[in-house]
Amino acid sequence: MIDRAVLERLADNWRLVNEQVADAARRAGRLPDEVRIVGVTKYVDREVTEALIDAGCRELGESRPQQLWEKADALADAAVRWHLIGHLQRNKVRKTLQYPVLIHSIDSERLLRAVDQSAEEREAAVEPPVDVLLEVNISGDPSKTGMDEQQLRQLLAAVPLAHVRVLGLMAMAGQGTTSTESRKQFAALRTLRDSLSEESGVTLSELSMGMSGDFAEAVAEGSTMVRIGSRLFEGLADAPRH
Ligand SMILES: *Cc1c(COP(=O)(O)O)cnc(C)c1O
Repeated sequence: MIDRAVLERLADNWRLVNEQVADAARRAGRLPDEVRIVGVTKYVDREVTEALIDAGCRELGESRPQQLWEKADALADAAVRWHLIGHLQRNKVRKTLQYPVLIHSIDSERLLRAVDQSAEEREAAVEPPVDVLLEVNISGDPSKTGMDEQQLRQLLAAVPLAHVRVLGLMAMAGQGTTSTESRKQFAALRTLRDSLSEESGVTLSELSMGMSGDFAEAVAEGSTMVRIGSRLFEGLADAPRH
């Protein structure tokens, strides 16, 4: 059982994050509902994840496929959409596609083709295509995941594939970047999206960018999905317990 104080704190955090995302949207002359909030639950167990759903969060992000499967199984009755935001190994593709999932982390053409192939092999021939985003390395930090421009162009030349829909791009600002620098990186992602879209004819309407520390900057630069974890769980460990 989760303590009432924890539930209240979680609901407050959820409300506050929603307000702050909406404010950032309005300041940028955008509508609040142009930005979806993905609650990143990789830090918390099934119970706290369930409490976050009860607070109103219907889009949940996990970095590890295995944890996504386990939570999606445990919470199968909740009407949520899952977001895989971390690396996906090809041998985990098939199982991942059993869940209602948007994959943010396509980082190679090989992986995209594996997703297309597994999607084709699913039992129900009528299942809708799998939605994916392409992960971009915008910080230029070689230790970061994601594709560079050349890899993106090459991959987009292979699209359309019959069983996947490439909806947009995902990226993370470099670690420890200042607010000004992260905003520049997000602007660069948007510009890159515009030119890739034009060259390839693939629409790329989604921009998954912005986390707890930099979502306001990301929203100012056109983010359509912010991935927020730690801010939602602030204060939980030291909430009073009975
Ligand atoms: C963990 C994680 C997040 C959430 O980060 P917070 O700073 O805790 O909000 C977002 N995106 C990715 C890819 C992550 O791995």
